[in-house]
Amino acid sequence: MRARRPPPVAQGLRSRFWERIPLAAMRPAEWEALCDGCGRCCLNKLEDPDTHEVAYTRVACRLLDAETCRCSRYASRRTYVPDCVVLTPATIGRVAYWMPPTCAYRCLHEGRPLAPWHPLVSGDPDSVHAAGISVAGWTVPEYEVAEEEWEDHIVDLDGDEDAPGRAGPALAAAAGGGDGGEEG
Ligand code: SF4
Ligand code: SF4
Repeated sequence: MRARRPPPVAQGLRSRFWERIPLAAMRPAEWEALCDGCGRCCLNKLEDPDTHEVAYTRVACRLLDAETCRCSRYASRRTYVPDCVVLTPATIGRVAYWMPPTCAYRCLHEGRPLAPWHPLVSGDPDSVHAAGISVAGWTVPEYEVAEEEWEDHIVDLDGDEDAPGRAGPALAAAAGGGDGGEEG
């Protein structure tokens, strides 16, 4: 989730592809363009091992650039964060349940449309920030918060005030995060 996604209007994107092309049939450039750059998937999460309910925290992966919402070392991130997941058409079904409810990949996977603030819809790569969807400016790095204290930093990303807070695997993170699952 960090600084590198080109503007969504790029070559190789079919007109309004997100409305008519299935995820599995998208071109690589289209798949990449789906990422809105919100950075939410790079937040650490707590998962209830019994119910698999997921709570997001404002504790961010150590590689997240807190201002740009991008991965600071995307190419080498797995050296530092081995469990950073690569989001692909093959993995989305397995990880969608813990992706942010606003994530474009999760939305399309669940048959929901992209939001008006999505850069592909708005035509403005900053609209995700202007709409208050991105994590810019309100995260804390994981090296400043002990894991046993993450529960104190739970945030509500989907209006569920009763989000769970059980300690879990955390950092199921990233899904290529703001990088839309770029292979790396
Ligand atoms: S979760 Fe992955 S993509 Fe996100 S900042 Fe960490 S290493 Fe980078
Ligand atoms: S992959 Fe991450 S940064 Fe990209 S849209 Fe989904 S939640 Fe946001």
